[in-house]
Amino acid sequence: MADTLEPGRITSLRAFDIGRPLGKGRFGKVYLARVNSTDFILALKVLDREEIMSTPRAETQALREIEVMRSLRHPNVVRMYDFFAEDDRLVLMLEYAAHGEMFIQLRKRKRFSERRSAKYICEVADGLAYLHTKDIIHRDIKPENLFLGLDGQVKIGDFGWSVHSPTEGQRTLCGTLSYLSPEMVLGLPHGKAIDIWALGVLAYEFIVGKEPFEADDSAGPRLVHKRICNCDVQFPSFVSDGAKDFILSLLQLKPEDRMPLEQVPEHPWIVAMRSKSR
Ligand code: AMP
Repeated sequence: MADTLEPGRITSLRAFDIGRPLGKGRFGKVYLARVNSTDFILALKVLDREEIMSTPRAETQALREIEVMRSLRHPNVVRMYDFFAEDDRLVLMLEYAAHGEMFIQLRKRKRFSERRSAKYICEVADGLAYLHTKDIIHRDIKPENLFLGLDGQVKIGDFGWSVHSPTEGQRTLCGTLSYLSPEMVLGLPHGKAIDIWALGVLAYEFIVGKEPFEADDSAGPRLVHKRICNCDVQFPSFVSDGAKDFILSLLQLKPEDRMPLEQVPEHPWIVAMRSKSR
């Protein structure tokens, strides 16, 4: 099977056999589809243009996602083959992530083994490092925005919040509350290191089965913010010393103290876990 589509070749939904719905997102629906008379399977994200236009922020967000995704090629990033507008719809042709959402897998298993977590974290780190070389900050890394491909490899998706930023220093408060980095909570300028912090939160959530900076709902976001700014992380007894060391090397208050993504595969805990899987 070809692994790509020629850009600009498809300009209508009539070019596809549309299969089952895969899910519903903020702006539209996602369907499994096959390019007519081929065995090329993909995910079609069909966005309602009117709905997008009616909220200025949504339009910016959708267009940003499209712009960002169409330039990317990496095994750990959901590929966008192409897109087209037809009638009142905007259609994105996406790589099909056959094993669906990471979030669902995590909820099913409650938490992942350290071995599985290490594999996934390494793959997310690799995808993020690639995005950073393109001056793209993802800004919303969490299990809901990660997918699993046919061979079980992680695919980073959902670029709604990402920014293309050659110069560091974004100030918008965005992303998901408990994945926010201290510099975002404090409204300080922030850059690529926010994704490294989020990787630490993700590693904790994979291994422990819940987020590190959770707080009682009644306490509201202020307590979560306080815990983030104090890096108040507590580990259950089943977490290994290696995993704790790994997570804490990412969850450093100062962005410059966080372990660079390129060093993730060399961390002793990752090395130990990865050699176990062979
Ligand atoms: P989204 O609009 O990106 O939030 O997508 C809505 C839902 O569609 C997701 O929660 C997934 O269940 C599904 N989905 C989105 N993109 C893909 C994809 N590339 N492959 C498989 N399922 C997807």
